[in-house]
Amino acid sequence: MPTWLPPVPLRKAPDTGARGNWLTPEQGQQALDHVLAHVHNRTEWEREGTHLRQRILETMGLIPWPKRTNLNPIVGERHYAEGYAIDNIAFEAIPGYYVTGNLYWPTVGEGPFPLVLSMHGHTKYEWGCRSDQGQYRAGMLARMGAIVLAIDMVGYGESMSHIDHATAHKNPYNATLHLWGAMRALDLLCSLNKADPSRIAATGESGGGTQTFLLAALDERITVSVPTVMVSSYFFGGCTCESGAPIHLSTDHFTTNAGIAALAAPRQQLLISDGKDWTDRNPTSELPFLKTIYGWYDAAERVENAHFATEGHDYGPSKRGAMYPFMAKHLGLDLSMAKNATGEIDESMIHILPVGNLHVFTAANPAPANQLPDIRAVAATLRALQP
Ligand SMILES: [Zn+2]
Repeated sequence: MPTWLPPVPLRKAPDTGARGNWLTPEQGQQALDHVLAHVHNRTEWEREGTHLRQRILETMGLIPWPKRTNLNPIVGERHYAEGYAIDNIAFEAIPGYYVTGNLYWPTVGEGPFPLVLSMHGHTKYEWGCRSDQGQYRAGMLARMGAIVLAIDMVGYGESMSHIDHATAHKNPYNATLHLWGAMRALDLLCSLNKADPSRIAATGESGGGTQTFLLAALDERITVSVPTVMVSSYFFGGCTCESGAPIHLSTDHFTTNAGIAALAAPRQQLLISDGKDWTDRNPTSELPFLKTIYGWYDAAERVENAHFATEGHDYGPSKRGAMYPFMAKHLGLDLSMAKNATGEIDESMIHILPVGNLHVFTAANPAPANQLPDIRAVAATLRALQP
């Protein structure tokens, strides 16, 4: 039986692929067992990985790769905090399509500094990457010695802010724009003075977790990934930006979020999970599955899990508290910068700014006039960049 065939009775007929809670938890476990029954070693897994990557990129419309165009970064106001600074920025990921966000810099040390891309989930549209939890983790990682770029999802924060948030976001093409935007964000990070392109991490929660494991699977520049509350065998992502395109299932491929996360092997990975969502079985289901695949590279210890059995679906303080030491260990950051005098991780030194202070586009610095009118126009522009 080919590994791409769904191994279990379908709960409902898929139209454009696997969506939401398409499998039961028991069926999810069967799906993982099915992979391990048919793939037995590194050679077979890499053959499977080539096939999965090809199909995922095809469904996203990214084969062949588009031409990389000038990023034309726009830098707005700078804010200074304790041990780090923040620049409000935007860059042109595709001509006329701007990715917006904030660049957090260490103000201690000479570098070169490792790089972190921070991606967010379905928070308030107005917040995007500027939620409190987004500011805490980006600020703290910068204090610890990383250059951190936090970016908006399509339609969130300042992204496509000239049209309605929901209209911009609820589009299956946004899986493509999130991946391409993240890859161009890595291009921007790697181009910075004092950047160390050999140490690049990605992290994000929920829909940002989906972006994290897809980026790690499809861009080998990611050496460390921390997908938070999203790596599941039975839940495929509830939004069109995650499972609206058939990245998990087509006529000749089938995979789960755990299967995509396994494509990061043997690079360092930490799954952060909790007891109240679809990551509830991570310690006994998805983690052993990943360790088997990492084990084919003699690297089973490079995938870990921090599980919070009594917690819910967020990137809260305890989950961030698990991420900081992992990033410190594998990126070479200074964990002492995250700790108080008693040696505990303490985020009180991170100053949370009002969301409006973190906007790059203001009355004095308006959004560029060449902004494309809608997602359809962005898609057409990206297609025109493909040979
Ligand atoms: Zn979404």
